[in-house]
Amino acid sequence: MTSHHEQIHVGTAAQPADAFFTDWRQVQAATYDFIVIGTGPAGVAFVERALARNPHARILVLERGGYALPMHVQMLPPPFRALDRHTPMLGGRSTSWSVWCPAPEPALLRGWPQALVDVTRKPGFWADARSFLHVTGADAIDDSVYGCLQRQLDLRLGDNFRHCVPSALDAHAAPLAVSGDAGPGPSFHPYCTVGTLLGLWQRQKTRAAQERGSMLAIVDHCTVERLLHDDAGRVSALATNRGPLGVGDARIVLAMGALSPAALLIRSFGARLPNAGKRCTGHLMSRIAARVKRSAFRDLSALELGACYLHGRATGGLQYHVQVSAFASSHPEQDADAIACETPDAAALPSPAQLRGSEQHVLLVCTVLGEVGEDNPGNGVGQDGADLRLRAGPMELQLWDVMDDAACQTIAALASRSGVAPAIEYWIEEGDAGYWQAERPEAHQVRLPVIVDEASALWIGEDAAGSVVGLDYRPHGVDNVYVTGAALFPTAGSWNPTLTVCGLAQDLADRIV
Ligand SMILES: Cc1cc2nc3c(=O)[nH]c(=O)nc-3n(C[C@H](O)[C@H](O)[C@H](O)COP(=O)(O)OP(=O)(O)OC[C@H]3O[C@@H](n4cnc5c(N)ncnc54)[C@H](O)[C@@H]3O)c2cc1C
Repeated sequence: MTSHHEQIHVGTAAQPADAFFTDWRQVQAATYDFIVIGTGPAGVAFVERALARNPHARILVLERGGYALPMHVQMLPPPFRALDRHTPMLGGRSTSWSVWCPAPEPALLRGWPQALVDVTRKPGFWADARSFLHVTGADAIDDSVYGCLQRQLDLRLGDNFRHCVPSALDAHAAPLAVSGDAGPGPSFHPYCTVGTLLGLWQRQKTRAAQERGSMLAIVDHCTVERLLHDDAGRVSALATNRGPLGVGDARIVLAMGALSPAALLIRSFGARLPNAGKRCTGHLMSRIAARVKRSAFRDLSALELGACYLHGRATGGLQYHVQVSAFASSHPEQDADAIACETPDAAALPSPAQLRGSEQHVLLVCTVLGEVGEDNPGNGVGQDGADLRLRAGPMELQLWDVMDDAACQTIAALASRSGVAPAIEYWIEEGDAGYWQAERPEAHQVRLPVIVDEASALWIGEDAAGSVVGLDYRPHGVDNVYVTGAALFPTAGSWNPTLTVCGLAQDLADRIV
């Protein structure tokens, strides 16, 4: 377990962990072309693309967290996996996210300006984002754990989902950000931006020594608190916890997640940005776990995992999706490490209580995410980011029924062999323990009291009256600040946001570098 004060510092004598951080006084004396705030997927996707376009670009990266984890928390030894997900750290939420990376088709981008939808249709938009995040289909993971079970899940869903799940639009093997770099080693490697960022730092150092590029400057434990600007909306300095930083001619890229950039802009620009924080969307969540006898599947080996993605819509138009993670282990205790390392959904690992006694079963654990729409009066975020108001309205409650039904229908479709439905047992959680029962759980037993994947607080649009950020990614009336990340999404859909976030960050780099 880590906290703000006790982080795991990793390094060797030859390469101290903090060697890649630049001294603050040096930073204050230097000039930059771009100042990027945030080292999560959005910030690093921007930096990578920017340096690919111009290795001489002088880039400063500021991050409020520190260097704590070199890789995704899922790949660490067991005592370190119980990470406090709220501790800021280099890499942002990529250090602990689940790695589902669907690409929303244009029809799912409800309320997005056509110009932005067209950006997502540009050749290479999705391919480049997938390449950055190392995305692969669960059906293409080539190791001994994904294989036979995955193929059977794909076949059953592919054949059946339309008539088994009436509200579904599509279903396929899960797209996951897990393909390791080429070479030996595990082929299931949850993506985290820290390695990419350090690799870019190393490459720029080499390039700078050969006068083929500029050093990449990275400063950790640096919280940007306010943007100081003139009447024309031009930012001249950043107020940070380390002291002020003159901006000069640099362009500032806010890649700070979904809520922090809204809080920063509201604090800094106040009434100049009247719509900032007035909208907030996100995802409702249920978790439904079930099991069926192994005999419902063919030729399974002792340990098998699988992952499928199904998405659909309620009649009111709000979207949902089901992330199914499947587990078959004949020796759960012995397999505990392999299951934890290769689980597709880091936030939905089956509990020891679920695995124990399930040696002769296949577990199907569904995380079900549904859209919180943009029209709920009162939803929004204020200037300290903590005063988030994000509640479900009547449309979302209707969606919640549809998506829970869809998850149970998906489980039934996946469990059926040659059209024959086996007995399904559902998990009822009671604290650290729980039990299996034949009846489907009630809503209160599966619905989680959280809304995740917050978005839209700085939604993008054509004009200042109807949005916060313009189509050029700059807040209306602000000169040298650009926003990237899910704060831009006019609506959140239900799809996991990070692939789209990275595509838009790459598009920003294409436009301004
Ligand atoms: C448990 C969990 C599971 C998830 N699963 C999925 C999934 O399966 N698929 C998916 O697509 N997404 C998933 N997500 C969401 C995903 O993590 C985010 O979409 C993604 O990290 C967004 O990238 P980002 O760079 O915009 O923001 P972040 O990753 O949040 O990075 C923002 C960075 O900005 C820094 N920062 C913020 N404010 C300041 C400041 N004032 N000064 C300096 N630095 C600042 C932060 O410390 C952070 O490093 C999950 C998230 C969680 C928590």
